[in-house]
Amino acid sequence: MKILLVEDDRSLANLLQTTLNWQQYQVDMALDGQQGWELAEVFQYDLILLDVMLPKLDGISFCQQLRSGGHYAIHLPNQETPVLLMTAVDTVTNKVMGLDAGADDYLVKPINLDELLARIRALGRRGQVQRSSILSWGDLQLYPKNCEVTFAGNPISLTLKEYQLLELFLRYPDQIFSQSRLIEQLWAQHETPTENAVRAQIKGLRHKLRQAGVPDMIETIYKLGYRLRRPNQENGQQKNSLSLATPAAAATPVTIPSSELWEIWQECRQSYDDRVTIIDRAVTALKAGKLTRELQQQAEREAHTLIGSLGSFGLEEASQISRQIQQILKQPSLDYSEAKQLKELIKKLRLSMSGEYQIENTLEVTKNKATYLTSDSANLLIVDDDLILAEHIANEAITWGIQAEVATNLQQAKKLILKQQPDVVLLDLSFAEIGENGLEFLEELHNKYPEILVLVFTARDQLSDRVQAARLGSKGFLQKPIAPSQVLAAISQTLQQSHQTQSKILIVDDDPQILKLLKKVIENEDYNLILLDNAQQFWEVLEQTVPDLLILDVQLQSRSISNGVAATSELNGFDLCQIIRNDPLWHNLPILFLSGHTDSETVLHGFEAGADDFLYKPFVPAELLIRVKKRLEQGKIRRQTELDLLTGVSNRSKSMQDITRLLRLAVRQQQPFCLAVLDLDQFKLVNDRYGHEMGDRVLNCFGQLLNQSFRMEDVVGRWGGEEFVVGMYGISKEIGVKRLNKMLNSFKSIKFIDTNGSEFQVTFSAGISQFIEDGEDLQTLYRAADQTLYRAKHQGRNRVLATEN
Ligand code: GH3
Ligand code: MG
Ligand code: MG
Repeated sequence: MKILLVEDDRSLANLLQTTLNWQQYQVDMALDGQQGWELAEVFQYDLILLDVMLPKLDGISFCQQLRSGGHYAIHLPNQETPVLLMTAVDTVTNKVMGLDAGADDYLVKPINLDELLARIRALGRRGQVQRSSILSWGDLQLYPKNCEVTFAGNPISLTLKEYQLLELFLRYPDQIFSQSRLIEQLWAQHETPTENAVRAQIKGLRHKLRQAGVPDMIETIYKLGYRLRRPNQENGQQKNSLSLATPAAAATPVTIPSSELWEIWQECRQSYDDRVTIIDRAVTALKAGKLTRELQQQAEREAHTLIGSLGSFGLEEASQISRQIQQILKQPSLDYSEAKQLKELIKKLRLSMSGEYQIENTLEVTKNKATYLTSDSANLLIVDDDLILAEHIANEAITWGIQAEVATNLQQAKKLILKQQPDVVLLDLSFAEIGENGLEFLEELHNKYPEILVLVFTARDQLSDRVQAARLGSKGFLQKPIAPSQVLAAISQTLQQSHQTQSKILIVDDDPQILKLLKKVIENEDYNLILLDNAQQFWEVLEQTVPDLLILDVQLQSRSISNGVAATSELNGFDLCQIIRNDPLWHNLPILFLSGHTDSETVLHGFEAGADDFLYKPFVPAELLIRVKKRLEQGKIRRQTELDLLTGVSNRSKSMQDITRLLRLAVRQQQPFCLAVLDLDQFKLVNDRYGHEMGDRVLNCFGQLLNQSFRMEDVVGRWGGEEFVVGMYGISKEIGVKRLNKMLNSFKSIKFIDTNGSEFQVTFSAGISQFIEDGEDLQTLYRAADQTLYRAKHQGRNRVLATEN
C-alpha cells in the first residue's frame, strides 16, 4: 500500500514515516502543500495523509482541489483516494470543514500511532470495497449497475435520493457525512434544499429499511452528521470486509517499539527546543513592550506545531502546556500579566520536555543492609554431635558478638530453626544417629531457607563432600581439627561478606529506554541499580551512592536548568571516565562502556580514557551480565586491600578518601557531617593481662561492632593501633553522640573470656566534631575531635563527648 504523507513538521513526518514503514507501507513524503499536490497529480496513492495547517497550500484547500479535479477539473489520479486529515485543532466546525472538503477521516493531534494505523487499515478496506461492483452490508446488497437494492434476496424499493444516500453510505463506510456535505453531494446547485430536507430523506430511508427488516444501519453522530453503522460480526459483513483488506495491513497491529520512537525523538529534540526558544523570544519581546504582530503569529504557529508533535511522541503533558500557550498567544492584545503567565508555561514546558523521561529523582537506591545488621548480634546455630566442641565454640562466639545455640542432632536443629531462624549454621556432616545425613540436611536448608548462611564443619575430607557442599550452597568448608577462634573468624568473615554481596551499579545513559532495558536485564541479579539519565548530575550521584561499578554511555546529552531555562549540552562519556581516573578518590572504580559506536577508533579511545571494558549496543543480556560480574569480582578483590584485616573496617587511606568524599558532598548539599575519633580505654592493660592474642580478638570484635552499628553511608576506619574514626553524613553531633553512646553500651556489655576462664569487659572513649562549626576540612575536624577525645579520657574514660561550641 502506497501512502502520500503531507506534513510540514519534519520530525513528526519522520516519526509517521518510520511508523508506516514499520507496517510495510510505502511512503512518499512532502513537507508543504504544494509539494504534496505535485506528487498527487502524478502518482497514484492508496491513501493521502494530510496535515491541515500547511505552508503554500493548506490541507482543506488541498482536499477540495483534489475532489473537484484540480484547477482544470480534469480527472486526477487520486481523485477518489481516501484522505486522512491530521490537525491539532479539535473542534466540531473544523472537523465538519475537513469532511466537507472531501476528507474521509479525521485524526486529531497529538496522534496516537495505534489509532492512526487502525484508521489507515479501515480506509484501506474502504478503498477495496469501492472497487467492488456490489456493495453490501450484512444481507443487504446494492447493485450500482442497475440501482437495485435487496435484503436477504428481497428487493427494497427506494426513491432516487434515498438510493443515492444509501450508496454514498455504503461506498464510504467509515465516513461521517455532514448535512451540508450530503446536500452538496446529492442535490444540484439550483435545488438548494434546507437541512430539514436532508433529515427528511434520512428518515424516509431509515423507515423503508426498517420495514424490509434491515437492522438500523445509519447512525447519527451528534453534531457531525450521519455514518454507516459498523455491521455486527454475526451478519457476515465483517468477514467480507476482512477478506478484502490488504494482507500487510490486516495483520495484527505491530506498534513501533518505543526505543525506535526514542531514536527519532533524540534526533529531532533540538528542533523542538528551537521552537520553544522562538516562543520564549516572543514573550521576552512582549515583556519589553516590543512584540510585533509577526512574531506573535510565529510564536503561535510554533505552539501549534508543538501541540501535535510533542503529543505524538508521547509527551502528553508538554503537548497540553503548548495548547495553553497557543490559547494565550491567539488573543489579539497581550499585556504584562500574560507575559508572566507565558513565561511560567514555557518554563513548565521545557521541564516537561526534558523531564518526561527522567527517572524519578534520578536515584533508585535501596538500602542493602542485611537484616542481621540491624539487630545487635548475629545468631549462630551449631549442629554437631560433638557437644564439647560445640559448646566451646558457642562460648567463644560471645566475644565475637555472636549468639550461639547448639543442636547435637538434626531433629533438634530443625526445631531450633523453627523457633528462631539463625543467620549462620555451622554444620557437621556426620552424625551418630542412623539416617541423619548432613548433606541431605544442607540441601533441605538450601531449599527452605536460602537466606541462611551455612558453613560445613567436618572431619571428612573427601573432595566429593566439598564439591557437593558447595553445590548445595554452603559458604565455606572447615576441616576438623580446627581451633574455635578460627571457626569464628571464618563465620564472622562470611557474615561480613554476606552483606557486601549486593553490589551497586551506577548506569549513566541519556536514553531512558536503554536504562529501562538494562534495569530489566540486570534487575534479576542481586544488584543494587542506580539509573541516571542526566549526566549533569553525575558527580553528585556518584558521591552519594558510591557505586561498585559504573556503566557509561559514550554520547551523553545532559540537561541543566539555569535561571529557569533548560539547556542541553553534549557530555562525553570519555571525559567522565578520564575525570574519574584522575580523581584520587575514584580512580579505582571499574568502568564499563556501553555504546552504539562500534568503530575501532571509538573503542580504542574508550580504553585510552581508562575504560575497563567496552560493550556494544544492542547488547546481548547474557554477555553483559557476565562482564558485569567479572568487573565486580575484580572490584571486590581491589576493595579487600582497602580493608583492615584484623578488624574488617576500612584502612586509614580508604577511610580518609571516603570521609573527604562525604565532606565534599556535605558542602554541596549543605548537610551537616560529623567526625568521631574513638580510642579503646586502657588497652595496654588488656594486652598485658590477657595477652596480645586476646587483645587482637577484642580489636576484631570492636571492628565488627562498628561495622554493624553504623549505616551503609557512614565511614568506619581504623587509623591507628586501637584508634578508630567514624564519619557520619547528614547528622549533627548531638545525634552522633547518641549513636556512639549506644555503640558504647553494646561494646561494654560484651564479656570477653580469656583462656583461663576469667571474664573482662572493655570500654572506649570518643570525641566528636562537626562540620562546619569545628572546621571545614578533615584535618581541622580531626584535630577538634581528637582534643575532645582527650577531654573524655581526662574525665575518666568510658564516655562520648562532643566539641563545646
Ligand atoms: P588510653 O585509655 O589512654 O587510650 O590507654 P591505652 O592503654 O589504650 O593507650 P596507649 O596508647 O598507651 O596504648 C595503646 C596500646 O594498644 C598499645 C599497643 O600495644 C596496643 N595495640 C596497638 N595496636 C595493637 C594491635 O594491633 N593488637 C593488639 N593486641 N594491641 C595493639
Ligand atoms: Mg587507648
Ligand atoms: Mg591510644
